[in-house]
Amino acid sequence: MPLRTANIIGSGPNGLAAAITLAQQGVAVTLYERNHRLGGACSTAELTLPGFHHDLGSSAYPLGIASPFFRTLPLEQYGLRWIQPDAPVAHPLDGGDAVVQEQNLAEMATQLSRHDARAWHTLFASTAHNLPALLEDVTGPLLRFPHHPFLTARFGLPALLPAQALANLAFQDERSKALFAGLAAHSVLPLTNLSSAAAALLLGAAAHASGWPILAGGGQSLTNALAQHLQSLGGQIVTGVDVEQLSQLPPADATFFDTSVEALIRIAGDSLVPSYVQRLRSFQPGPGIFKVDYALSQPIPWANAACARAATVHLGGTLAELAASEDAAFHGRHTDKPYVLLVQPSLFDATRAPAGKHTAWAYCHVPCGSNDDRTHIIDSQIERFAPGFRDCVLARHASNAASLAQWNPNLIGGDISGGALTLPQLIARPTMSTYRTSNPSLYLCSASTPPGGGVHGMCGHNAAKAALQSLRH
Ligand SMILES: Cc1cc2nc3c(=O)[nH]c(=O)nc-3n(C[C@H](O)[C@H](O)[C@H](O)COP(=O)(O)OP(=O)(O)OC[C@H]3O[C@@H](n4cnc5c(N)ncnc54)[C@H](O)[C@@H]3O)c2cc1C
Repeated sequence: MPLRTANIIGSGPNGLAAAITLAQQGVAVTLYERNHRLGGACSTAELTLPGFHHDLGSSAYPLGIASPFFRTLPLEQYGLRWIQPDAPVAHPLDGGDAVVQEQNLAEMATQLSRHDARAWHTLFASTAHNLPALLEDVTGPLLRFPHHPFLTARFGLPALLPAQALANLAFQDERSKALFAGLAAHSVLPLTNLSSAAAALLLGAAAHASGWPILAGGGQSLTNALAQHLQSLGGQIVTGVDVEQLSQLPPADATFFDTSVEALIRIAGDSLVPSYVQRLRSFQPGPGIFKVDYALSQPIPWANAACARAATVHLGGTLAELAASEDAAFHGRHTDKPYVLLVQPSLFDATRAPAGKHTAWAYCHVPCGSNDDRTHIIDSQIERFAPGFRDCVLARHASNAASLAQWNPNLIGGDISGGALTLPQLIARPTMSTYRTSNPSLYLCSASTPPGGGVHGMCGHNAAKAALQSLRH
């Protein structure tokens, strides 16, 4: 069957990437989004007070700037501007100490002991120097022969290890272990789980290779650039359409779901083979998040001024504390001292807040589906490393699992990764057929396919390529 027309359900970065990939090949694409604002978890709005612009989902883009697909697009033509803070990541510790990941690998020696700086170099140098080649292999289905087998094996073998074990093996000092653990906790896995080191190795290498930038104007500017590029290729975008049944959409040769696995079953279950639906049902969400957006009267008063050098700050203290936090969230427990991811974009982008004022974005991992209010817990973790923080807060906007899923139904139980990033679910995401479903005209293209969560568009791009391969013109 030829592929001449396609419907895309969902305008997240993966839906837009799928649509652009198809439109580039002359397919007539129409994209449907239930919200009036495009972008899913890559969008920005005034959530607290007038003039304070907050990223509703993602806020820092190590995989966005490095994305093999986004790098091929002329997004700067549509106003996209990456902003590189002075350093990719800061990690404060008790007693006013802080350790910073410098973008320049050679400068890690100013942050870590001589032994640990050498170990850091051993872990990250090869991946950082070869990141574009490695990403060709790790941003698609994992079970296929790699284009760069030696490079991929060099990355993949330590990446399979539990992060806690690798940190203890590689480093002597608590400061280095804490910095590594902060990177690893992006996996949303217990740091004792196999493959929890992968996130640290990939995101840490990306920090050295191309930084952890934010976007001028927020995540919405990436979405708007992708949407404008799609329209320049002839793609149509329709907002305010919540697709509940396939019959709502005009006929097309293929339909792409930038949705959760649950939504694929709900919308198209009747068009899928029952045994495939059964396999889909065993795909599990990961922990959720609780998020707080802050309007601030001044920059965050960090005890250690180095924390103002990075947009992204990892809070929670030592490796042991972060490991306990991630273990708790994964196993359905709350903790009063969680790992908190914080982004302070207005320090580097004046468009985010009125003159002299600031914004901050922070979340912690919570059990999947938790609707507990963790606002005071997140406040306390920030206050721990920035005494006086609470006095700077002009307004807060808190989001629990229920409110996140109401805004974006892909966030099942507050899970922001499209499904737990365990090793089995990285390989079979959401099944071994990845983007393809049991119906040759239906494709899944969201973060519930390889390579998983994050703003990189590779799930959508790969799904579109799979369809173009199967349904040739
Ligand atoms: C709070 C938060 C913080 C994050 N932080 C970062 C970060 O800093 N850096 C990073 O790289 N990643 C981050 N992520 C993860 C990243 O944003 C996601 O992995 C990424 O956006 C997934 O893209 P997607 O296209 O698969 O889905 P989404 O971005 O979730 O978009 C899906 C879209 O589909 C629409 N949709 C769903 N069902 C239907 C339907 N039935 N009909 C019509 N429309 C529908 C939704 O409304 C939504 O707009 C974060 C996510 C969240 C939520």
